[in-house]
Amino acid sequence: VMLFFRQKYKKYQLLLRKSESEYRSFMQETLADLTVIKTFRMEDRNQQKMEDFKTKRLRLIFLNSRLSSIITAIMRLVYSLGYVVAFCWGSYRISKGEITYGTLTVFITLVSQVQGAVSNLAGVVPKMYSMLVSSKRICEVSENDKEVYSGKTDVPDSVALEIENVSFSYDDNKPEIISDLSYSVRAGEKIGIIGPSGAGKTTLIRMLLALTAPTKGEMVYRFDSGRGEAVSPDSRRFIAYVPQGNTLMTGTIEENLKIGNKDATEEMMFKALKMASAYSFVNKLPDGLKTVLSEKSGGISEGQAQRIAIARAFISDKPVLILDEATSALDEENEAVILKNISDEYQDKTCFIITHRNSMLKYCDKVLKLSENT
Ligand code: ADP
Repeated sequence: VMLFFRQKYKKYQLLLRKSESEYRSFMQETLADLTVIKTFRMEDRNQQKMEDFKTKRLRLIFLNSRLSSIITAIMRLVYSLGYVVAFCWGSYRISKGEITYGTLTVFITLVSQVQGAVSNLAGVVPKMYSMLVSSKRICEVSENDKEVYSGKTDVPDSVALEIENVSFSYDDNKPEIISDLSYSVRAGEKIGIIGPSGAGKTTLIRMLLALTAPTKGEMVYRFDSGRGEAVSPDSRRFIAYVPQGNTLMTGTIEENLKIGNKDATEEMMFKALKMASAYSFVNKLPDGLKTVLSEKSGGISEGQAQRIAIARAFISDKPVLILDEATSALDEENEAVILKNISDEYQDKTCFIITHRNSMLKYCDKVLKLSENT
């Protein structure tokens, strides 16, 4: 019976799981972006969308339950028919004098015992199909390429970079975002990366961090010892990265800074905050370093959160620093202070700085300009 209905049963299970994850992500997104929803007056639209999700889910649950009931009813019918057949067959054999009434009683008892076992076994089959569907969805996630770390922990003093004929496209059928890029960066150089939105600046940074691999070409980090190392997830051991947006975690400012270096002393934290132009505002907070930031850095402004994120990178004291529009929420004055501090105090560190203010390029040694057809 289960074999007969298995395609339909699997289909409903798959649709149910999908609708559940859609529903949950919608809920999560709604709660995370309440401000956008309120300011765009999206309450009614979102409520309607939620109703649609609920109706769709309810219908799927109904269809799935109905199918399960049909399967169970057919199975019960088959069992009962088996019982009746056994009884009729026994009665016939008694009437012929081939078996005794005692044999029939024992036989019927045995049939009911076997039925119980078979019934339990049959109950496992729908569970098995439901598990198969779930495991298939988990496999889809786990099929993403696994990152391999070789376990290297050595952090070089200085790092240069060679980019040779690198091209990248997200899809074989799509045009290249970066085409045949060759570029050399000496240890300690500050590179300003500029270009219009969509030119591939973040994509290039993602390649430097080995979050994405080039489709063609090579990227090699060169150390002071002269040794070269192709970009790989291991490279992250010597890179401090400040991504776009607000990336502070829920917790105190101190806990956030210690993500950069768990052994950081108060003195180290203050030094990093000063360099990130964040010391004076942190010092003015009643709880200072112990100030608790709620979800999405609640309690401080976006520019202040960015400066703490930059201090977190400073505290990790890596030879390569990447700022991906990390100063976008800052006023020009604070951005200039931070970039000047980097230029003055980070002479041995190689820095990649994506910025939209051309006036900041004076703090860089070289400018890499990406255009839509780089
Ligand atoms: P930038 O940082 O210069 O604004 P990005 O590197 O973020 O640009 O994006 C470069 C181009 O790649 C854009 O056209 C963008 O639409 C595309 N892109 C970015 N991420 C993806 C992705 N995950 N899949 C497909 N295309 C993407």
